[in-house]
Amino acid sequence: MDIFVFLGAPGSGKGTQAKRLSVHAGFHHLSTGDILRAAIASGTALGTKAKGIIDSGELVPDSVMIELIGTTLASLPPKSRVILDGFPRTVAQAEALDSDPAMRVNRAVYFDIPEEELILRLTGRRICVQCGEPFHVVFMRPQKEGICDRCGGSLYQRSDDKGDVVKRRLEVFAATNDRLLEFYRGSQRLETIDADQPADQIQLNLSELCS
Ligand code: AMP
Repeated sequence: MDIFVFLGAPGSGKGTQAKRLSVHAGFHHLSTGDILRAAIASGTALGTKAKGIIDSGELVPDSVMIELIGTTLASLPPKSRVILDGFPRTVAQAEALDSDPAMRVNRAVYFDIPEEELILRLTGRRICVQCGEPFHVVFMRPQKEGICDRCGGSLYQRSDDKGDVVKRRLEVFAATNDRLLEFYRGSQRLETIDADQPADQIQLNLSELCS
């Protein structure tokens, strides 16, 4: 399996780019946030456990996340090319990936972006309930208010993209990120991209890094 991890703050654009690469370059895009939100929507035991944690901007325990990613990766064909978006978020999660040769990470790409951009991006973000396409109330308005340009689904705001929760998510990110970057830098697997550029330019840079 060829595994790339996308690291970066909430709102740095890693999910949008991972989605594009899955459409244009055949990657499996695994977003742990999306998996947890799907579990909440379908009312599973995992969803019930995760809901309060997500809504307060904290991290779901490592043991739960490590089991989830292990099971999900094991369900893919062995030669898959995979982008992990939102995992790992802690060094314990990064170590768990490397501890299994089948899950060892090839390269980590860090989406670097100034913090002041993030609050604006996150609080204005709207997402299609059907296809997951992201929009923004200022930077990427849909043609028709509240409706997805791509599939006609309704747009919604994630419960954790609101005020204080955004602030907490960014604090949690800041508290864990340096150690995670150091983990991949120390094993010569870290690449950094400037995530404060037009999405098309970022995609070009990423296509080279993930080829
Ligand atoms: P995201 O969509 O990646 O921003 O994730 C939304 C929320 O899901 C996070 O704020 C966490 O509460 C939870 N979550 C997602 N991935 C992880 C992870 N790898 N470890 C712990 N919690 C996670």
